Amino acid sequence: MPGGAVPKKKASHAKQGRRRSHVRLHAPELVACAYCHQPKLPHHVCQTCGMYHGRMVIDIRARERKQHE
Ligand SMILES: [Zn+2]
Repeated sequence: MPGGAVPKKKASHAKQGRRRSHVRLHAPELVACAYCHQPKLPHHVCQTCGMYHGRMVIDIRARERKQHE
């Protein structure tokens, strides 16, 4: 049977450590909203003003009304 991708040698602890040096948690990157200047996730609709790329995507006032119910 053909082997496929089977490692010939087990990776050493040093090599495993080097590989995992990039494996870590990191804080989410935030950018300032172009419209309300509040922090928001890049490439996401702003959760404060509901704007994305010059367009009103979320009806913030409708959401506020929902929260007050
Ligand atoms: Zn905004």
